[in-house]
Amino acid sequence: MGGESRVARGEKSLDLAGRVRPSLASFEPYDPAFAPCRVNLSANENTHEMPAEYAGALRAALAATPLNRYPDPMANALRDALAERHGVSRGNIVVGNGGDEVLFNLLMAFGGPGRTLVTCPPDFSEYALFAQMTETPHVAVPRDAEDFSVDADALVAAASDAALVILTSPNNPTGDLLDHAVLRRLLDETDALVLVDEAYVEFAPEGTSVVGLVAAEPRLVVLRTLSKAFGLAGVRAGYLVADPSVVDVLGAVRQIYSVDVLAQAAALAAVTHRGALAPVVADVVSERERLSAGLSALPGVRTWPSAGNFVLVRVAGAHRVWERLRDEHSVLVRDFSSAPGLEGCLRISVGTREENDVLLDALATLLREEA
Ligand code: PMP
Repeated sequence: MGGESRVARGEKSLDLAGRVRPSLASFEPYDPAFAPCRVNLSANENTHEMPAEYAGALRAALAATPLNRYPDPMANALRDALAERHGVSRGNIVVGNGGDEVLFNLLMAFGGPGRTLVTCPPDFSEYALFAQMTETPHVAVPRDAEDFSVDADALVAAASDAALVILTSPNNPTGDLLDHAVLRRLLDETDALVLVDEAYVEFAPEGTSVVGLVAAEPRLVVLRTLSKAFGLAGVRAGYLVADPSVVDVLGAVRQIYSVDVLAQAAALAAVTHRGALAPVVADVVSERERLSAGLSALPGVRTWPSAGNFVLVRVAGAHRVWERLRDEHSVLVRDFSSAPGLEGCLRISVGTREENDVLLDALATLLREEA
């Protein structure tokens, strides 16, 4: 076969080393270690049954949506409904394919080489991932190892020459809330854009959200999602509330059709009928408190107070406990035990009363056996 090329000989193989953009070369596909289970409390979804009015409005909106037309790239009807929700204008809202997309776009637009991002880990892992993807230098101001509180002085100092700060309230996975005084200091004492990620804020006490400050603070950006309280994790719809100048930049860099017609229709119906959600959210919150109390009562389990729809626990042999819950009880939670600052920790999403009872019983049995 002397002079024949490798392609002609059918020996096609692609050596990717050196071809992949260097900043991305070490990346691996996102794997939250999902496994199909009887009870899935691993992804902070809303597993509660939705009220008939809300579910019916969503079904009707989806059924009435033609699939042959491109989506409105500006998603104006949805932006108007969201603007009305927050008492702002359409020009203050940019939507995305989940909060993930708007987070990525924020890093792409306002990060990049030479523009530092500051975060307070342990927090949502995508901040660090998106910083790396967009070649944004990342400075971490770690939370207190015991109570996960933020060191305000260290944060303000780190933010003094940063382009962007991301704070999460309630924080995932620790469950604690942003102290508004810390935000005030960042806005007054630094020049950074500050993103407050409020993905879980509907589960937090009244007065937690800082979305009302956006009108007066052009450097404040607030992230919201329909994946949690609204029960639409599968739809992929999230958004930012921000100054119109920030919205314009993000509107210009986003994938124009990233929020498809079904997502826009479902999200619009959900936001319009959000009044029906109040009992569901109240039920999640009361289940969170019951779950948390049940977990704290188990021998050797430490919990932290949470304002989200999840509870972080620390337990001896956490990885093994996680594996046994999955394999012997078909209960899936999230294993953070090898993540920095979260040694021995598992995150348990708040499910329905029945799901939470299955988890509590399984964990009690398992801890008895491990003792
Ligand atoms: N922010 C935080 C803190 C989250 O935990 C999540 C999802 N787990 C998101 C943003 C993004 O959610 P989504 O892309 O589903 O809107």
